[in-house]
Amino acid sequence: ETITVSELANRMAARGGDVVKALFRMGVMATLTQSIDADTAQLVVEEFGHRVKRVADSDVEIGLEGETDEDGELMPRPPVVTVMGHVDHGKTSLLDALRRTDVAAREAGGITQHIGAYQVQMKNGERITFLDTPGHEAFTAMRARGAGVTDMVVLVVAADDGVMPQTVEAIHHAKAAGVPLIVAINKIDKDGVNPDRVRNELLQHEIVVEELGGDTQEIQVSATKGIGLDKLAEAISLQAEVLELRANPDRMGEGTVIESKLDRGRGPVATVLVQRGTLRTGDNVVAGAEWGRVRALVNDKGQQVKEAGPSVPVEVLGLSGVPSAGEPLVVVEDESRAREISEFRQRKVREKAAAALTAGRGSLTDMLARIQAGEQKEVAVVIKADVQGSSEAITVTLGKLGNDEVKVRVLHSGVGQITESDVQLAKASNAILVGFNVRATTQAREMANRDGVDIRYYSIIYEVADDVEKMVKGKLAPIH
Ligand code: GDP
Repeated sequence: ETITVSELANRMAARGGDVVKALFRMGVMATLTQSIDADTAQLVVEEFGHRVKRVADSDVEIGLEGETDEDGELMPRPPVVTVMGHVDHGKTSLLDALRRTDVAAREAGGITQHIGAYQVQMKNGERITFLDTPGHEAFTAMRARGAGVTDMVVLVVAADDGVMPQTVEAIHHAKAAGVPLIVAINKIDKDGVNPDRVRNELLQHEIVVEELGGDTQEIQVSATKGIGLDKLAEAISLQAEVLELRANPDRMGEGTVIESKLDRGRGPVATVLVQRGTLRTGDNVVAGAEWGRVRALVNDKGQQVKEAGPSVPVEVLGLSGVPSAGEPLVVVEDESRAREISEFRQRKVREKAAAALTAGRGSLTDMLARIQAGEQKEVAVVIKADVQGSSEAITVTLGKLGNDEVKVRVLHSGVGQITESDVQLAKASNAILVGFNVRATTQAREMANRDGVDIRYYSIIYEVADDVEKMVKGKLAPIH
């Protein structure tokens, strides 16, 4: 009788944030995890231009091949992994090394292609998919679009350097996304390195590895010497088992664009990570606001394939234009349907651009409305300050705020200018951004304006506390 907002968004292949906004316009305050009734869902579905099939009175089915999967149809699927960590700690080297462990590569005889993700087959036959754009920017950019494609994060920490600012950022991004971490202590081949130091530093950021009695797996590796790679793969498999990753391969394909480009010879090319169902050549698809008939599918070894199932990344050729990373791709029944949805979405894109010019701000107002309605239980904050002492003081001060209904959560606090990465994190988590004696970079400011992220500048700590307190009570006036 009910459906969660995120499941509804998923079935329509729409962004979660857009569905929340559509609901808000209808006077319904709901977050992604909340459930709405069938009638409300039907209104939203129609607003998004989809047909609605109601099988029973209480049930909402979306024309866009929206059936839920029966338990028996769900098959195990490979985990999708993102590698994060501080610059120079060995993310790229590790991704290269893992790629070389693929037992299927030699037989296939293909030439490895960078398509944004690759899959390796381990000795025991199990497969793992790695997104090969390392770092948290891509990860959070996707999440800001409502696309949670990553099942787990491998956090690379160089044993000779320890936990560094981007390590901490990565921890916060993974935590904000609710994605489990596996720690890979890298460069273990170097003389005199001490993993205990890394473990203790991680402890300060609430990552407790198994060696210290916690539940985060830790593997010692050397990317360049090829040490510990099998163990790391085993750790990933183990985590995947815990997560019980499953998908139904026997339905029309659905996935997310993880990379895209306009190729001189081949035209628009989108790398799609298939998440449900199977994508096949000849399928009619919609990707973001683009549509097309799949002319060819090319895998990470540069080979043409006929189909791709759950967790498989493939390049898709034949689209009308270049969709953005993070946008959903879905197979639809025929070409006219594909055109119809694409036109609808292009209209929405234009409307949104026009609205952004006039309105700009929305997130804070939305948030306050949700708090007042008792729908939002948390005020999330991202803090950037000029010095470590200030960012810590603000974190501690804000940690004491909040009441029984609404909690205050500091997602990330750091030192330096507000960057695009901060804006993305704030956007993805519906947080406000606090700048303490620092400004935002031009790019960050533009992005915040475009995405409706609220940045507030302060130079007095109690004023930060004051404003956050007001937010907790749902009573802060928007700046504009
Ligand atoms: P990224 O910035 O995190 O992608 O780091 P890179 O993969 O580019 O590695 C940075 C540097 O560390 C390079 O010079 C690598 O050769 C070196 N490096 C990476 N992994 C190891 C390792 O396991 N042992 C040693 N000794 N050096 C490594």
